[in-house]
Amino acid sequence: MNGKAVETPALMPVYNVLKETIPVGELAGKFGAQAIMTNSYMLLKDEELREEVLSKGVHKLIGFDGIIATDSGSYQLMVYGAVETTNTEIVDFQERIGSDIGSFLDIPTLPDTYKPRAKEQLKTTLSRAKEALDAKFTVNAAIQGGKYADLRAEAAREIGKDFPLAAIGGIVPLMESYRFADLVNVIAAVKENLPADRVVHAFGLGHPMVFPLAALLGCDLFDSAAYALYAQDGRYMTDYGTLRLDEIEYVSCTCPICSEHKMGLKRLYGEDLTGALARHNLYVSFAMVERVKQAICEGGLWELVLLQARAHPALMRAVDALMGHSQWISELDPITKKTQFYRTGPESELRSEVLNAKIRLQRVSTANTLELQPFGPVNEELLDIYPFNGVFSMSDDVKPKVRDMAKLRAIMEYQFGKGAGELLPDGLRVKKSRNTRRIRWLYEGSEMVASVRASDHMIIPHDRLALKLKEKFQSPKLRVMLKDDAEATKCVVDGKSAMCKFVEEVDPGLRCGDECIVVDKKDKFIRCGTLMLSPKEIREFKRGMAVRTR
Ligand SMILES: [Zn+2]
Repeated sequence: MNGKAVETPALMPVYNVLKETIPVGELAGKFGAQAIMTNSYMLLKDEELREEVLSKGVHKLIGFDGIIATDSGSYQLMVYGAVETTNTEIVDFQERIGSDIGSFLDIPTLPDTYKPRAKEQLKTTLSRAKEALDAKFTVNAAIQGGKYADLRAEAAREIGKDFPLAAIGGIVPLMESYRFADLVNVIAAVKENLPADRVVHAFGLGHPMVFPLAALLGCDLFDSAAYALYAQDGRYMTDYGTLRLDEIEYVSCTCPICSEHKMGLKRLYGEDLTGALARHNLYVSFAMVERVKQAICEGGLWELVLLQARAHPALMRAVDALMGHSQWISELDPITKKTQFYRTGPESELRSEVLNAKIRLQRVSTANTLELQPFGPVNEELLDIYPFNGVFSMSDDVKPKVRDMAKLRAIMEYQFGKGAGELLPDGLRVKKSRNTRRIRWLYEGSEMVASVRASDHMIIPHDRLALKLKEKFQSPKLRVMLKDDAEATKCVVDGKSAMCKFVEEVDPGLRCGDECIVVDKKDKFIRCGTLMLSPKEIREFKRGMAVRTR
């Protein structure tokens, strides 16, 4: 936006112009913040600052040229019950000071507000959203509704119609009181009802212990006033909770502040103490964002969430709530991941990967199975592929001997459907890697019909095998159908990727990472390739790659 980009998930530290805890230069420099948040209402209400910001703009006033998001005074509304401004005035003010992201004056509904009242407040919030439709900034469109899933869902559907950035508001009290199961249910109600391409901001969710959970549910932006507020209150954040300074007997954190002060932290006072605690809090917050990003890159976000949940019973309750949403998550979840699947405990049985695997296990017709928790009976031929490989390699069992053809045919069925194994003829020639002795290439005569991916042992069909799959399975199975668009079709024929906007239909049984067949509207074969997003995302994204063709 405005020529500036931010990599998500991202944490926006809140900068309080009237009460600086950490200077902006340090937030941008040492902490590497690409976006920060500040309160426009405070600027509007301070006569001197108002004149200054109106003449200079908010970027010059603060001294930050990254993305600046401004809040509207809703927080003050929540704390003090009233504000001296109107929706139109505060929207107009944020436009004039040059906010990249701005907010309308939504009504923050507390989680346990009496439902009819929450409903009334939501109505006001949604009508104020309408007034901000033409705002010259990216609107941080607030979704309210307290703890009520139906109100959150309604709000998400309304906000989703018009705004690319949605902000889940009114969740700070849930974070503060460790009501993480409620938090999960609120975020899920919103995410399930928003189009998949909307950026989602978890408004005020600034405690690192909930970042993995919120990221798994699809939150992209976090903001933290918490780092400074907790510091002012003598509170020290950790990945698994909050300590009061007087509870600390040993310092295990290795952030620059803790490394420097060690237990000397407790001898600091006044602004020195607040500054040190705020910096520590922010270091652990940014570090958790980095861990989340690393987990996303390697496909291990579930593992991060489940391991971290064991650090606090409230997080474990959140995991129970999370498992209630597994069905929905499984439709968005990739079918294969870079990292191995690890069973972390009994709750693993309800993970999205397990739900997807169980559906596919029903397609496989071989008779030899073994018990493999959390999946139940798994065909012996499938132990090399994701997600079974990781779990089996951690068990004490000896791998059963399986013939190559039996293995390949079972994997074909698992990937593509019952009967797909028959498409591999008896005379198939199997070539193995010289180093690992694992199957790598499949030939019919001199023609290579498929390769086997080294990382997860999945079969990558080439054109000849893909054509057979197309004949075997009726439309829409395994297909990504393109719109009648000569240009788009030509692109794919020429070997370019199929973009989401050119996709007419996609088999809902496919998952991100699946091998699929690209066809035109008459079901004519165009190419085969790998699905890069989930069917839901492909339907709802206007940009991005749907299929990477070969
Ligand atoms: Zn520290």
